[in-house]
Amino acid sequence: MVLTCQHMKNFADVAVVGGGPCGSFCALNMAKKGVNVTVFEEHSEIGVPCHCAGHLSINSLKNLELYPLPRGIIENIFYGAKIYSPNGLEFSVRFASAITCAVNRALFDKHISRLAEKTGVRYCLSSRVESLITKESFVKGVLVKQKGETVKFFSSLVVDAEGTAYRILRQAGLASPRRESFVNCVNAEVENVKDLESDVVEVFLGNNYTPGFYAWLIPKGEDKAKVGLGARVGNPKTLLQKLMKRHPAASKKLQRAKIMRESFHPIPLSGPLPKAYSDGFLAVGDTASQVKPTTGGGVIFGLNCAKVAADVVAEALNKKDFSSKFLSIYQKRFMKLIGFDVKVMLEARRMLDRISDKKLDSFVGFCRKIHVNESFKDLKEIDFQGQTMLRACWNPRIIASFAYFFMAYFQQKLKG
Ligand SMILES: Cc1cc2nc3c(=O)[nH]c(=O)nc-3n(C[C@H](O)[C@H](O)[C@H](O)COP(=O)(O)OP(=O)(O)OC[C@H]3O[C@@H](n4cnc5c(N)ncnc54)[C@H](O)[C@@H]3O)c2cc1C
Repeated sequence: MVLTCQHMKNFADVAVVGGGPCGSFCALNMAKKGVNVTVFEEHSEIGVPCHCAGHLSINSLKNLELYPLPRGIIENIFYGAKIYSPNGLEFSVRFASAITCAVNRALFDKHISRLAEKTGVRYCLSSRVESLITKESFVKGVLVKQKGETVKFFSSLVVDAEGTAYRILRQAGLASPRRESFVNCVNAEVENVKDLESDVVEVFLGNNYTPGFYAWLIPKGEDKAKVGLGARVGNPKTLLQKLMKRHPAASKKLQRAKIMRESFHPIPLSGPLPKAYSDGFLAVGDTASQVKPTTGGGVIFGLNCAKVAADVVAEALNKKDFSSKFLSIYQKRFMKLIGFDVKVMLEARRMLDRISDKKLDSFVGFCRKIHVNESFKDLKEIDFQGQTMLRACWNPRIIASFAYFFMAYFQQKLKG
């Protein structure tokens, strides 16, 4: 059980801001290396409130040694995906094995925090980090608000995993992602959904419903599902209602669905911050914008980068070097890990943002005609999409579909 910190010792090697998956996973990996870590979480319970759909790749969880997960965390596993074009044309893929799962994010976050706690990490709940303590430009700790009191907590390093708040990040003198790079999202738990295929996730496209992004439908069993969308412009709540009532494909399933709970949150799509470190300070997860620009999925990239951060922190403590110069190896290493894929995804995102609904309809029609879906049967890797695309380039059907997409994009670009 994660305890609230009372009468806390006021020093640790590392103070972590935020007990989300990335803060806790970084803490866990630091503790595994013998680092003394305290995590500060502003809420009274880990994982709550939850804003995420929790759709994760099984392969990536395995690579992070987080899969299989304990019973109850996984809500469903998926063998297929259906993508609907703006006019409702369906493109479906069936995989040879289970490729993704939906997790209950609150339980997933709690699981990682328990692993961290068992490894020696101390958690302080209901503890909001108000600001950084700095001395001669070096971050030396945090000022924490607990039960109305402000407490000083000193550390050799601070790992910032505050999510999309960016308050502490800015105090460290680092620039947060550009405002226009965000999509505003809604995720809802719904019941009474019709025609669900229980092991297939669904994606809906269309600028009228989900401008600059997409909508998702993630079955949870029986007639229950998570449904949500992101939008660069417009109100996500209103757009979700419109999608459920009027989208040619989504409305058939969701017209009579009942929204049980909904939450709203932004996703940064600009790719990782160009600088996610300063003297005595590292940023991980959404704070460092370590998010896939195509799908907005941030858990897997964030966890991978959190692990890289943990290695760098352990090395910095060994060398007693907390300078920005030394910590810059964090940026180099995580960019080596995700940099190429992010570059490819940013380009894909840029093209998707510009292509019209009509062109998307014809692209999906073309993919159906040449049966591209058969080429994706053995797909396992969905997070590192740049590498997946490279590997797929030998496949004639995939080459043909890429060529069609590029042509459609450039035709539109030429027309202005
Ligand atoms: C609608 C929606 C759906 C999504 N669906 C998916 C999905 O299906 N798959 C996927 O991979 N990603 C998804 N994401 C993205 C995913 O939610 C994030 O990438 C992920 O939560 C990032 O984890 P994190 O630990 O960096 O931040 P968070 O999960 O946001 O955790 C940050 C933590 O820091 C705490 N905190 C903040 N400020 C302070 C402070 N000053 N002091 C103390 N504590 C503080 C917060 O309370 C929070 O607990 C989705 C996002 C949205 C908005």
